[in-house]
Amino acid sequence: MTDRQKLAFADDHFHDECGVFGVFGHPEAANIAYLGLYALQHRGQESAGIVSSDGHELHLHRAMGEVEEIFQPSVLAKLPGNLAIGHTRYSTAGDKALLNAQPIMIDCNKGKLALGHNGNLTNAAEHRRRLEHRGSIFQTNSDTEVIVHLVARSQARNLSGALGDALNQVEGAYSLLVLTQDELYAMRDPRGFRPLVLGRLPASASSNGNETWLVASETCAFDLLNAQYVREIEPGEMVRISKAGIESIHFAPQKPVQQCIFEHVYFARPDSIIFGRSVNESREALGRALAKEHPVAADIVVPVPDSGVPAAVGYALESKIPFRMGLIRNHYIGRTFIEPSQAIRNFGVKLKLNPVRGLIEGQRVILVDDSIVRGTTSRKIVRMVREAGAKEVHVRISCPPTISPCYYGVDTPTREELIASSNSPEEICKFLGADSLGYVSLGALRQAVNDTESRFCTSCYTGVYPTDLVQLEVPSATSSNGHAHDAANGDAPGSIPLERPVTVEREG
Ligand code: SF4
Repeated sequence: MTDRQKLAFADDHFHDECGVFGVFGHPEAANIAYLGLYALQHRGQESAGIVSSDGHELHLHRAMGEVEEIFQPSVLAKLPGNLAIGHTRYSTAGDKALLNAQPIMIDCNKGKLALGHNGNLTNAAEHRRRLEHRGSIFQTNSDTEVIVHLVARSQARNLSGALGDALNQVEGAYSLLVLTQDELYAMRDPRGFRPLVLGRLPASASSNGNETWLVASETCAFDLLNAQYVREIEPGEMVRISKAGIESIHFAPQKPVQQCIFEHVYFARPDSIIFGRSVNESREALGRALAKEHPVAADIVVPVPDSGVPAAVGYALESKIPFRMGLIRNHYIGRTFIEPSQAIRNFGVKLKLNPVRGLIEGQRVILVDDSIVRGTTSRKIVRMVREAGAKEVHVRISCPPTISPCYYGVDTPTREELIASSNSPEEICKFLGADSLGYVSLGALRQAVNDTESRFCTSCYTGVYPTDLVQLEVPSATSSNGHAHDAANGDAPGSIPLERPVTVEREG
C-alpha cells in the first residue's frame, strides 16, 4: 500500500472518480482548463492532464499528481490554441500509472482525437477481449480505450456518427469529452450516472471577443471563472461545439435515468448544482431528515468535517440543538506525507482530525457524518470524541447503510469490506463504541434530492443494479440477480431496513 493509499484508507470513504473540463473558443484555453480542473480537484488527485488544439495539432501534457503541481506556467505555455479538454483522475479502472492518465490522445482513421472520461464501463472487459481477438492492440488497461477502438472501427462517415456507434455498444457510466483539431464533443450515457454541465463565458471575458463554451463535471468549476451555468448535458445527449455553434444530438435510445445519488451525499462540492439541484440544499435536507427520524437528547451537534458539515447544520437547525465545530480538520496533508513505520494508534485519523476539548468535554454529542464504509475510521473518531471528554456519543449518518459496491465510476471496497453488508445497525453501533446510531432512510434520501420521478441510482444501498454486471468479471454475488431479490425482500446482508428509520442503541 502506498502512503497515499494509506491516507485514503484512513479516510475510509468511497472515493471520488474523475473530473472533466472542456473549453471551446478562448485564446487561453489551456489556462482556462487548468482553472477548471483546479476547481474539480476533489474528484481525483492521482493524475491530471490537458490537451489543447491550435487548429492543426493537439498538444498534450499529463502527469501523476495534483493539478497545481503539474501545471506550472512553463507547462501551460506549451499548450497553445483556442480549444482544450482536461481530466483529473482517481483510478476506478486500470492501473494507477501514468500510462492510464487521461486525456487519451490518438491519431486514427477518424483524425486526431483526445478523450477524457468520467465513469466506468461495465462491459469493457468483454469488448476488449473481442477487439484484441480481432487484432486491436491496446496501449493502456483503462476501460476508456475501448471507446477509442470502437470509434476507429466504426463505418460511420463522420465523427459524431462514429462516436454514437461506439457509445451504443458500451454499457455503464460515462460523462465523456472528445477534442478534435477544431471541435469539442460532450456526451453523457443514457442513464446519466455521472454529472456533466454546459457553461458559457461572455465575449467580454475573452481577448478575441468571442463567446467561450465550457463543459464541466460540476458547476463549481464555472463559478471560479465567473462563467454562466447554461444547463446539464442530458442523459443520452451528445453536444457538438464547433465554429458553426452548438448542435445537440440524441445518440442513444432513452433508458431509465439513474443519476448517482452519492454525488449529493458526498462526492460533489456543496457549492455545485448537480442534476439540477444544489448539493448543499440536499445535504442540509438530509440533516433535517436525520433529526426527524433519529432524534436524541443531546447538548451539541458536531460534524465530521468537511463533508459532514451541511448535514450537521441541517440536524442542528431541525433539532434546535447547538451546532459546534468540535472536530477540526487539517487541510494541509500533502501527497508526499510519509507515515512512520511505527505508527501510533489512531495516527491516520489524527493526521486529519483533532477534537476541540473545550467544546466537547462533559457534553452529550451528536456526531454527524455522511457515510460509514468499513467503519474503521468512524470507530476511531468516536473513540477520539470520548477521549476528549464527551459524556455520550450518538452517531448519525446522512445516508442509508452502504451494502454494495459501485460499478459506475466510484472507487469502493469489496462487498465483504463494507461493514453494513454483513452487520446489523446494532452490531455496527457496538463496533463503533457509540451510544446510539441512526442512518437516514432511503425514502428520506430520495426526498432530500427531490427525486420525485425515480431518476437516481441507489445501488450501493439496495444491491439492485440498473445494468447487467455479468460482463464485469465481478463475483456472482454482486450480479444484479440474486442480491436484488434479497434486498427487495428485506433480507439484504445485515437485514438493514431501507425505508423505515430505526435508531439503535448500544447494549452495555
Ligand atoms: Fe452512485 Fe452508489 Fe449508484 Fe455508484 S452505486 S452510481 S455510488 S448511487
